[in-house]
Amino acid sequence: MILNTIKDIEVTGKRVFIRCDFNVPKDEFGNITDDRRIRAAIPTIRYCIDRDCKIILASHFERPMPGVYDEKYSLEAVAKRLHSILKLDVIMAKDVIGEDAKNKAKALNSGEVLLLENLRYEAGETQNDGAFAAALASFADVYINDAFGACHRKHASIYAMAQHFDVASRAAGFLLNKEINFFHRVLKNPVRPFVSVIGGSKVSGKLQALVQLLDKVDKVIIGGGMAFTFLKAQGYEIGNSLVEEDLLEDAKKIMQKAKALNVKFYLPVDVVVATEFSNEAAIKYLPTQEIPKGWMGLDIGPASSRLFREALNDAQTVLWNGPMGVYEMDKFSKGSIKMSHYIAETHATTIVGGGDTADVAARAGDVDEMTFVSTGGGASLELLEGKVLPGVEVLLVKDPS
Ligand code: AMP
Repeated sequence: MILNTIKDIEVTGKRVFIRCDFNVPKDEFGNITDDRRIRAAIPTIRYCIDRDCKIILASHFERPMPGVYDEKYSLEAVAKRLHSILKLDVIMAKDVIGEDAKNKAKALNSGEVLLLENLRYEAGETQNDGAFAAALASFADVYINDAFGACHRKHASIYAMAQHFDVASRAAGFLLNKEINFFHRVLKNPVRPFVSVIGGSKVSGKLQALVQLLDKVDKVIIGGGMAFTFLKAQGYEIGNSLVEEDLLEDAKKIMQKAKALNVKFYLPVDVVVATEFSNEAAIKYLPTQEIPKGWMGLDIGPASSRLFREALNDAQTVLWNGPMGVYEMDKFSKGSIKMSHYIAETHATTIVGGGDTADVAARAGDVDEMTFVSTGGGASLELLEGKVLPGVEVLLVKDPS
């Protein structure tokens, strides 16, 4: 798989459009709480600034109602953060492809940076609309995609737009290239034992990735809400814990496949249960065999943490996606925080995927100890499923292999 990268094409002095992923978390006051995705795009932006480009940045942010310019979804706060990181004025357009954006794009000087408004203010973005993509493409001579977290979506700025540029004027930015290379390398030739730690709320979102991973890994550790579907499939009482009834058969098949492939499959042996989904709820630590009716499991227990640490002991590659419990609430965060510490302490190559999982690693203070923290949750899962992401497909110079 050969991906065209920004270094393979000539950008000097040109009008360069960079699709970024600035979909960052904000608090209730509109403050950015985690700017990792913004920082991750800086090397590509700086590279273009240093080459006297006229730079047009674009991103989506959450899910505004198309056509409604609701301030809540504006990229204004992102422009300010970019300004403080780049130490450079960032010009903010009031719209996406409207008069203001057009005029500001036309007036750009070399080394200047323009940020368009939230791409999803325009209905054409999520519809992969040709006319919208053409309007975006008219702003630039060169198209760069550095939005790994959005590459699994066939949206206009990711897919249709790239097709307006020939192979000499479209490429992946440094972040996208790094993410794709990392996953590709790890999945192709992992150093063994290769352990995959999967958590989070839903089996459904990760089912395909799990099935694919079984062919590649030596051990699978399951935690989080998704563990209860597997526990129920084994016949355990799980009370009011999260379960996907329609996936019980799939869960059984996954466990059978793991056995057939001699993949060691670990489930929690104890859980933290509560009567309600609340930080104030009364809790109990119980073996998974003893979850009472009416209670729900919201974190893995200390025995599971110890067991999972043992399983991680000899790991040489660890891929982690999904928290072990409802880590947002202090009472149910211990399992996830401990898991983060254990993974960080291994001598393995460690890859953390998904916004929530990266957030756990950050809260645990372990980010610097991890080999690689991916900026994309959905995108990294689709890579694990063995798919070629639409945003990558349009930048390949050779067929995927
Ligand atoms: P996902 O998006 O599938 O990776 O899921 C992440 C979410 O799973 C987080 O918001 C956690 O709070 C949630 N989660 C983890 N464990 C549980 C659990 N036992 N019950 C309910 N939600 C959970």
